[in-house]
Amino acid sequence: MNLSSIVDCANRLSNRSISNPMDWRAIDRYILLASFVLLAPTCFGTSLWITNILAPEYLNQTLVPYMLWLYGIHILVLVGLIVEAFHRRQHNDDWPFFENFIIGSYIVVILISGYLTGSHFTEGLLLIFLGVNITCTLASVNKIRFCYWLVLPALFVMGVTDFMPNVPYAILLEKSPILPDGHPVLGWLIVRALIVFILLSLIYLCILAMKRWTERESLYQEMSTIDGLTRLSNRNSFINRGEEEIERAQKQHTSSKSPLACIMIDLDHFKRINDTWGHHAGDEVLVAASKIMMENARRNDEVGRYGGEEFAVLLPNTNIKTATRIAERLRQKISETKINIDKQAIEVTASFGVACYPSDGVSSMSDLLKTADKALYEAKETGRNKVVLACGNNKE
Ligand code: GH3
Ligand code: MG
Ligand code: MG
Repeated sequence: MNLSSIVDCANRLSNRSISNPMDWRAIDRYILLASFVLLAPTCFGTSLWITNILAPEYLNQTLVPYMLWLYGIHILVLVGLIVEAFHRRQHNDDWPFFENFIIGSYIVVILISGYLTGSHFTEGLLLIFLGVNITCTLASVNKIRFCYWLVLPALFVMGVTDFMPNVPYAILLEKSPILPDGHPVLGWLIVRALIVFILLSLIYLCILAMKRWTERESLYQEMSTIDGLTRLSNRNSFINRGEEEIERAQKQHTSSKSPLACIMIDLDHFKRINDTWGHHAGDEVLVAASKIMMENARRNDEVGRYGGEEFAVLLPNTNIKTATRIAERLRQKISETKINIDKQAIEVTASFGVACYPSDGVSSMSDLLKTADKALYEAKETGRNKVVLACGNNKE
């Protein structure tokens, strides 16, 4: 390995160390998960071993060796698999067997430990719940769903046996770890503290997972409502907002008139811009035009990209006169703006159609859009770079 590849590797590792584990490759996520899972047999095994040395009278001596073997083997296998995963990660992104073993062995160890110490419905349940939730983000969600189905009947059986007098309870403990005066013995307190340590580690990962879920949720929300190029509302979310506004206007209609105006805008001869300056220039013109519309919109207005070079503005509580004035101002701003692209000043104009709800033939959002579009068509037909009001009597 030469110096540059060592530096490269160090950079990759340092980059990884600051990124959210949810973004890592599958095999790296499993290594992290295995390291967390390793905490369970290590903490349980160590505390059992120490208790067996310091206070053997508290433990069922028949069971102790089996439990120590179980924890020991679990630790050894996990460490072996982690080492093997470090080798495999050079060539493989995934290792399903490793994933299955981590999830399965964690559940088995927690269930057995919880049942034998009688803590399956306190710490045991919490450890399973948090562990399985963490695993949801670090491993495959389908496998986790399967785990839940596996754990539920096991917990049910444990719960039922708690009420069966002939089935012994907490059989690893020979004596109660709670003294007659109500205080727990020191060793038991240490075991509890170790469990808190595992839980805190799991909770930290839970927080990272939730952060990632929130980010994904907002990304999904953004992708489904915002136009990627112009950052305006996309067609769907624009129409949804319009429908909401119409509904609101209909409710308010009895007490006071609350018109809703819509301006449809289409850039003139936009194809020529693409043909003359290239598509990247066309894109920049779209962005610049959107910016002008956003800057001139009021706080409650909705500006949307309706199609390729078509835009629409929704103006709640605005009558047709005001909407026309706003459209005229927008038209002027767009036509006066010089858009600098590749050291060239590109000019663009736009045509506008204005319609209003309620008015003749306009009783829904789709009517409003159709009517504004018809007016826009007329603006195109009669010379472009102009504002046309939809005909029909405004019922304002
Ligand atoms: P008119 O004045 O009649 O509206 O003419 P026009 O050239 O603006 O209209 P036309 O419908 O003939 O052409 C619109 C062009 O807009 C065609 C299409 O390639 C372009 N376009 C649509 N979406 C985008 C986009 O996202 N980026 C770019 N650069 N061009 C786009
Ligand atoms: Mg056009
Ligand atoms: Mg068009």
